[in-house]
Order: sequence, then C-alpha cells, then structure tokens
Amino acid sequence: MPSVFFGHGNPMNAVQQNAFTDGWRRMAASILKPRAILAVSAHWYLPATAVTISRAPKTIHDFGRFPAELFRVQYPAPGDEWLARRVRSLLHPCKVDFDEDWGLDHGTWSVLQHAYPDADVPVVQLSINEARPSSFHFQLGQQLAPLRGEGVLVVGSGNIVHNLESYGWGRHVPDPYDWAERFENIAKQSMLSGDFRPLINYEGLGHDAQLAIPTPEHFLPLLYVLGTQQPGEKLSFPVSGFDGGSISMLCVQVG
Ligand code: ZN
Repeated sequence: MPSVFFGHGNPMNAVQQNAFTDGWRRMAASILKPRAILAVSAHWYLPATAVTISRAPKTIHDFGRFPAELFRVQYPAPGDEWLARRVRSLLHPCKVDFDEDWGLDHGTWSVLQHAYPDADVPVVQLSINEARPSSFHFQLGQQLAPLRGEGVLVVGSGNIVHNLESYGWGRHVPDPYDWAERFENIAKQSMLSGDFRPLINYEGLGHDAQLAIPTPEHFLPLLYVLGTQQPGEKLSFPVSGFDGGSISMLCVQVG
C-alpha cells in the first residue's frame, strides 16, 4: 500500500464536491483497496500517544459554527482491534494507550467520506502526542512502515500550510499569499529530494515557516507519512491548490 497525506482544509469539504474532493476520490480509486486504514489526524492532538480500539468508532463533529448538514454527517466505518494492537506493538517501546472514547474526527471523515464513501474499510486513529518534538513523530512513521506490507493504508490528515488568521473566510481569495506559496515550494523540494530534515526541523525555516505553521498539529501528520517512505520509493502530489489564500490543500502520496 502507499501512504497518503491529505490536505483536508475546511470541514465543509465533507459535504461539498470540488476539485479537492474529486482528487481524493480519484486518488483512492487509483490504488488497491486497503484492508484497513490507520489515520493520524490534526484534530486528535493531546499529551499522549493513543490509538482507538472501539469496534464502532463514533463520528465526532469537532468544530464550532457550521451548517446543520455538516453535523448530520455520519461515517460508520468499523474499528479494527487487530490494527490497534499491531500499532501498539510496532511503536514499542513508546507507550501507546488504547482509547475507547475517541472515534473518528472530521480530519479523518471529511476526507474518507469522499475517498471511501461506503465506509466499508475499518479505520483506526492514532493521536498526535503534543508533548513530543517533530523528530519523534517522524520516527513513529518509520516504525509504522511495515503496516504498508500488511494491506493497511497509513493516512495523515492536516495541511502543510495552515494559517486560519489570514484565511479568507467567505471572501474570494484567488491566489495563495506569497509566503504560503514559498513555504509549500520549499516543502515540495524537500520531499522530492528525499531529504526530509528541513521539514522535521521546520522551525529553522524562518518567517515563512512561522506563518505556514503557527501551530504544529496540522503539519505533523505529514511527518508520519514521510516516515513510511522506503529507500528509492517515489513520492507524488496527487492533489494540489490553495484555499482561502493560506491553506495548502497539497496531498502527498508515498509509493
Ligand atoms: Zn483541520
């Protein structure tokens, strides 16, 4: 299986059809159907590494004021206890908690709603431990790489550039801000070169990086996906574009 980072952007993408959601659908149709999905979402960010283990993870509507239709979305994919236990053993000696309370947050279901609309692929979420440095998250991705040979699609869901302060809510912002485009280009170059160190140490990338990543939770899922890359393996960008000037919708496919 490949690994895929989705730029999920605005939660409304879950109930809309646009160039981004069409791209997610095409990407999923172009690969083998996975036996399960492990999702690392920007929206499960807490001071622990945890994995969902419930059989029927609930659909979490973790956002504020959005139209009622978004609160009506249900994504009833089953959980996968085998995968939760497999993740814990692969991440040893990192402590991984089994979690029965969390379900699927919108970082996961807003994308999977389009990629796998039948919700027939089991989904497990892995939290992002906010107390750990970015190198830790890249390393966890490396430890998870064997899942790809076991029919599991490793998904990261966030945004490489994610600045809500400058996001054009309701306004038509046709072009990305210059700093947003510059940072995305630097990120692309790093990914294509196979040298991920500048991204793991993104805080050293200057002012553009500070604007692109004002808080790390939407960026870190990318490091999990990059961590699963094997030597010499190809990397591509199946979906690209900006939303609201300051959200990069770039998708990254490894393998
Ligand atoms: Zn988000």
